Amino acid sequence: MIIVMKPDHTPAQAEAVSERLANFGLKAQPIHGATRTVIAALGQVLQDHRDEMSMMQGVDEVIRVSKPYKLSSRETHPADTVIDVGFGVKIGGGRPVFMAGPCSIETEDQLWASAQGVREAGAHVLRGGAFKPRSSPYAFQGLGVPGLKMLRQAGDELGMPVITECLSVRDIDAVAQYTDIIQIGARNMQNFVLLEQAGKTGKPVLLKRGMAGTIEEWLLASEYILSQNNPNVMLCERGIRTFETATRNTMDLNAIALVKRLSHLPVISDPSHGTGKWYLVRPMTMASIAVGADGLEIEVHPNPDHALSDGAQSLTPANFAEMANDARALASAIGRPFADVPARVAAR
Ligand code: PEP
Ligand code: MN
Repeated sequence: MIIVMKPDHTPAQAEAVSERLANFGLKAQPIHGATRTVIAALGQVLQDHRDEMSMMQGVDEVIRVSKPYKLSSRETHPADTVIDVGFGVKIGGGRPVFMAGPCSIETEDQLWASAQGVREAGAHVLRGGAFKPRSSPYAFQGLGVPGLKMLRQAGDELGMPVITECLSVRDIDAVAQYTDIIQIGARNMQNFVLLEQAGKTGKPVLLKRGMAGTIEEWLLASEYILSQNNPNVMLCERGIRTFETATRNTMDLNAIALVKRLSHLPVISDPSHGTGKWYLVRPMTMASIAVGADGLEIEVHPNPDHALSDGAQSLTPANFAEMANDARALASAIGRPFADVPARVAAR
């Protein structure tokens, strides 16, 4: 940070600033210009430090220089992170992937119809929720551990890595046992204890952006996972809350392009939750590819009208297949074709 002193500050005030910086463990480097004095503070600067320095006598302004997030920043790690999620699927580094499947795992037949459909349409990763964060406690809450087992079995039979949400520290061991990627949902973006526990499992983690999370808060949240010696973190933009009510959320495409620039972590787009409407999933998928997303997470249900959650935003397998074709054509046309889909290892 740089502390700009007022033109009429006294030497004692400048001295007090340097002493306060030393108390924070920061090195003070005064620079005297023709009309102004600035003091550069070197070391690990926190927001609290900036707030406190800005209140000191004789201080005009405090300017931040480096990013508060370190491990996720491109400043410290210029190359894209590429995450091996198993079954030959790698995420990040320029070739997008599809993660697709039902919002909730409801029955074996429902999961299988969705899983087989998305596999045939070229999806790389199978998604499915077993622990569901629902706005109403009276709505379907998911099948829990039996759902996790069904997801694991479908993934193994189809030769696909699987992703599922962990809602709570209570379930982290069970989720880590059955899944290849742990999803942290929007409502838990700043559940710091859960983030640390997810990081400790060593599994790849997909961190969704909170519905009112700023980009900086989102990247800082990722540091809780990364700091557990777990480099396998991907970020997921899933729409934010705005004044607009015509769509479920507002897809922040700016965020995808900006986070790709700020961070080396893969960025996934979720146009299903981002729009809330199945017919907007295709255009927002295309837009997400155009702005640089490393993958798409998309809800697919064999019978959306009867889905126990998020039917309105779910594609049928046929719609998904058609959309996936168009998305592949677009991605190839702009020189970043989708990742290859590993061969199927078993058949039911
Ligand atoms: C989901 O992916 O099923 C989900 C609940 O998403 P979000 O956390 O983005 O609402
Ligand atoms: Mn959903």
